[in-house]
Amino acid sequence: MKLLLAMMSHETNTFSTIPTDRRQFEARGLSYGGEIVETFRGTGTCLGGMIEATERAGATLVPSVAAAASPAGRVTADIYGDVEARILADIEGAGHLDGVLLDLHGAMVPEGMDDGEGQLLAAVRERVGPAVPIAVTLDFHANLSAAMVAHATLLHGYKTYPHVDMAERGAEAAGRLLDVIAGRIRPTVAYRKPPLLPPLGNQGTARGPMRRLYDLADAMEREPGVVSVSVFAGFPLADIPDAGLGVYVATHDDPALAERHAEALARVAWEHRSEFIHAALPVKDAVARARAAAGGPIVLADMADNTGGGAAGDGTEILRELLRVGARSAVVACLCDAAAAQACAAAGVGARVTLDIGGKVDDRHGAPVRVTGTVRTLSDGRFVHTGPMMHGLAGRLGTTAVLDVDDIKVILISYRWQTLDPEMIRLVGFDPLREKILVVKSTIHYRAAFEPLAKEIIEVDAPGLSSSNLQRFAFRRVRRPIFPLDPEATYP
Ligand SMILES: [Zn+2]
Repeated sequence: MKLLLAMMSHETNTFSTIPTDRRQFEARGLSYGGEIVETFRGTGTCLGGMIEATERAGATLVPSVAAAASPAGRVTADIYGDVEARILADIEGAGHLDGVLLDLHGAMVPEGMDDGEGQLLAAVRERVGPAVPIAVTLDFHANLSAAMVAHATLLHGYKTYPHVDMAERGAEAAGRLLDVIAGRIRPTVAYRKPPLLPPLGNQGTARGPMRRLYDLADAMEREPGVVSVSVFAGFPLADIPDAGLGVYVATHDDPALAERHAEALARVAWEHRSEFIHAALPVKDAVARARAAAGGPIVLADMADNTGGGAAGDGTEILRELLRVGARSAVVACLCDAAAAQACAAAGVGARVTLDIGGKVDDRHGAPVRVTGTVRTLSDGRFVHTGPMMHGLAGRLGTTAVLDVDDIKVILISYRWQTLDPEMIRLVGFDPLREKILVVKSTIHYRAAFEPLAKEIIEVDAPGLSSSNLQRFAFRRVRRPIFPLDPEATYP
C-alpha cells in the first residue's frame, strides 16, 4: 500500500499588500521528503494525524512537499508553481500509487487564479487518473469550490474553530482513504454554497451558529451510510467568487442521502444567517473596561489584527490607547515589526531606546507609535506550541525583543505569527497570569489556550484586515448578492 503525502497551506487575504512569496513559506515551513515525517510526526496537525494513521495501518508513505506560510496576500506564481510541480514530479517518480493524501487549506488565492486548491487538485487528478482516490483535509475556513469537490474523492474539513481537531481530521482522511482503496466505501458526495459570507468574529464553534450547524452535522455523521459531513465557515477576506460558507456531505453509495443532508444544513445556515453578524467594543471603551475590571488577566482580543487572517500584525491602536491612559501592567502580544526588534537587539538588554513601532505595513492598521522604553529581554523567538492548537509543533518568531514602556511590555517579533499560544509570552520571560491586561492579536484561536487563563475576555474593534466588519472592505469579485454585504440576498 503506497500513498503520496503532501501539504500546501495558505489562507489568502486578497486585501493584504504583502505578497506571499517563497521567503514567506521558508519563514513558516517548507520541507521535502523524509524531513516532513520528522517535522510533523506526533504533532497536533493534519500531517501529524495522517502520518500516525498510515503508519499504524502499515501503509508506505511517499512524502513529497509540505509548504505553509503565514496568511497574507496572494501566493506568488513561482512558489505555487514550484510546489505543484514538485507534487506532480513525485507522483510520477513514485510509480504505482494506491492513493493520495493532501493537507490543503481551501482559501489559497495564487496570482492569476481564484481557486488555488481547485487548480492543484485538478492537476493531481489529471496526473494520477480517475481510478486513484485522493483524500484531502481542508481548513474550517476553506472557500469550497466546485473544482475541489469534483477532483477530490473525499474532503474533510476541520470541525472546530479554534482548530483543535486537525490531527483527528488528518487521521480520519487517511482512514477513509484506506477504506476507499479496500473497497469498503464508495463515496458519493453533495455540496451547497448558500449566498452567505460569515465574518470571522462569530464563526467560533464553542457557541453560536457554527455550533448549531456542527451539532446537526455530528448527528448526521452518526447515521448509517454517512461517511463525513463538513461545514466550512469560509474565509470572507478572500475576494473571490467562491468566498463564503460551504456544506459538503459524503455518503456511502447514496447520492440522494448526500443531497438531502447538504440541503438541510445549508437551509439551517441560511435561516440563522443574522447570528453571524458580529460586534466588538471600540478601542477606548474596551481599554477603559479592562482597566476597571477586578483582577486579571483581562484579555483584550485585537480581532482585526490577526496575522492568522492575513492582517499585518503591526496594528497600533490598542497600544496607543494603553499608552494614552497610562494602563499598567500590560503585555502586547505580539507586534510584528522586524526593524524595531532588530533595533532593540542592536541596543542590547537594559538599553533605553526611542523607536517608531508598528503601523508600517499599510494604512489599515493604525499609524506608527513613537515610544521610549527599556529593552527587557531578547530571544531568537523559537518556541514549541504547548496549548491545544498545533500541540508539539515548533514555532519561529524570529528576532524577538520586549520593549518595556512604563510597564506596558510590547513583544516585538520578526515573523508574522498569530498570538494563539501563551508560550509566545512565556518565551520572553513573562508569566501571563501576572499581568493585568493581555493584548492578543487573534480573532478566535487565542480562546483555546487563553480562555482558561483569562479572568475576562473583551473583543476589541480596532482597525485591521481581519476585521469582522465586512462593510469596511471594497469587495469586487465575490458573487453578489451575498449576505451580509447585501442584506436583501435570498436563497431560493
Ligand atoms: Zn482556519
